[in-house]
Amino acid sequence: MKIAVFSAKPYDKRFIEQANRQHDHKLKFLSPNLNLETVDLVTGFEAVCVFVNDRLDGNVIKILHQQGIKLIALRCAGYNNVDLDAAQEHGITVVRVPAYSPYAVAEHAIALILTLNRKIHRAYNRVREKNFALNGLLGFDLHGRTVGIIGTGKIGRIAGQILHGFGCRILAYDLYPNQEFAETFAEYVTFEELLKQSDIISLHCPLTPQTHHLIDDKAIALMKTGVMLVNTSRGGLIDTKAVIRGLKTKQIGYLALDVYEQESKIFFEDMSEEIIQDDVFERLLTFPNVIITGHLAFFTEDALKNIAETTLNNITAIAQNQDCPNRIKA
Ligand code: NAD
Repeated sequence: MKIAVFSAKPYDKRFIEQANRQHDHKLKFLSPNLNLETVDLVTGFEAVCVFVNDRLDGNVIKILHQQGIKLIALRCAGYNNVDLDAAQEHGITVVRVPAYSPYAVAEHAIALILTLNRKIHRAYNRVREKNFALNGLLGFDLHGRTVGIIGTGKIGRIAGQILHGFGCRILAYDLYPNQEFAETFAEYVTFEELLKQSDIISLHCPLTPQTHHLIDDKAIALMKTGVMLVNTSRGGLIDTKAVIRGLKTKQIGYLALDVYEQESKIFFEDMSEEIIQDDVFERLLTFPNVIITGHLAFFTEDALKNIAETTLNNITAIAQNQDCPNRIKA
């Protein structure tokens, strides 16, 4: 197939070209995101390969169809950025990579928790300045603390399991509780009960109309004073302005984000020479108890290899009219 690979970074190219040796598709790597402004770049291709910040809304999909695109191959798990109804209406198949390394994301959530708690980011800078004072670096034992996991799918369960190993008490909330997880590591409670009891809350559910701004003023008001909130899932789960209000009143004591509602305008790019126009994001950066990574949780060698291999297997299956288990239906 002739495939336009959007949002392509050097690391994508490396892993996708390597995986393509088994397939021999014709690939063109394009650095822009796919959106209404760039959609004309698809002329002459049969498929597009896209990532988390490409915007495939109804208008873009209509043009993809007019340009003869038959397949959208997502190289990620979440598909909140694709209008599936529009794709179905225009006969475009959508495939994704449902799991590539849940360990990568879960382990990053743990890295954020440990960094925020033990102030590793600040301690690192101090030592480089030959400042060995401990004032301001006080942390707490994770052992014995209560952690609330919202969304106990592949990633949430691994995060819960690791934190259980630290000696934490694990509370869980999911629309579909996992029996094995309940028997071994966690106690399922209501959303409200999880918010009330947890010292640390980690989000691992998908972004859907139902989970959009799941963490809002009302939810924050139910949390323990000084709670640690961690989001490695999708930015839209959190009402960022409400979280800033929570940080200002100290209701939220720590915030770790790997994702951000408006990240498509800033993440994955070197913005070090730019003036960032997003005042909400800039306000977040001023808090000493906030740590942000730029959608990095998935970024391990193992995950990139799995993403590339699954993406190309998906494309070959569709090209050869075979069953593809990773096809998403509206
Ligand atoms: P998964 O599908 O295995 O698990 C998601 C869980 O959320 C399921 O158990 C589901 O029942 C639950 N859920 C759905 N709606 C819910 C709701 N309203 N309330 C509570 N629970 C709900 O997915 P996963 O592989 O564990 O991934 C979780 C999320 O992590 C993805 O949706 C994606 O947004 C995010 N993610 C982020 C990165 C990153 O690099 N930061 C990488 C991969 C995935």
